[in-house]
Amino acid sequence: MKIRTGFVTNSSSSSYICEVCGAAESGYDACLSDLGMTECENGHIFCDDHLLDASDEEKIEYVLNNKTKIARKWAGWRAPEAQIEDYIENNINGKDNEKLLEVYNDYEDEADEAPEICCPICMLQEINDETYRKYLNVKYKEDMEIIKEKRRDILGQLTYISKKYGIDTEDIKADIKKNYKRLSEIK
Ligand SMILES: [Zn+2]
Ligand SMILES: [Zn+2]
Repeated sequence: MKIRTGFVTNSSSSSYICEVCGAAESGYDACLSDLGMTECENGHIFCDDHLLDASDEEKIEYVLNNKTKIARKWAGWRAPEAQIEDYIENNINGKDNEKLLEVYNDYEDEADEAPEICCPICMLQEINDETYRKYLNVKYKEDMEIIKEKRRDILGQLTYISKKYGIDTEDIKADIKKNYKRLSEIK
């Protein structure tokens, strides 16, 4: 991961909490990477140790699903459309797996944020409050409309659902992992 040079902390202390293990890291004038932490493209923050090793298949799929995002990384955010299309045409479309893996690795090395396939929260290895909330809102939509007013906290909502349907948090966790491969699919 690239070290963020544009991060200005104004000589003040920055601190971050890992969303996976709860470890807190802080330092003066420190950016995430100085503290051994990473942010994924969906805003999750965690210790570098928790980064997942994505499979080649996942990496290739990532490139094919994020062509424009990757092209803009190299061509620039304000590059004209034609330049983006050129990049995609020359580096992604119709290329073999070896080339696509190369595109992925170059992107991962230079990107400011880790691709979601490296994030344990995005890939549902770790189920956190955000995940439970999204899932409950999809699976128990009608219940949630009623209880949201009364129980704003996720713990209260989980307890309500657990009691009503006779399932525990572990069952809910297993159900999430069984039905989805990544957080972004829960909608
Ligand atoms: Zn951690
Ligand atoms: Zn993530």
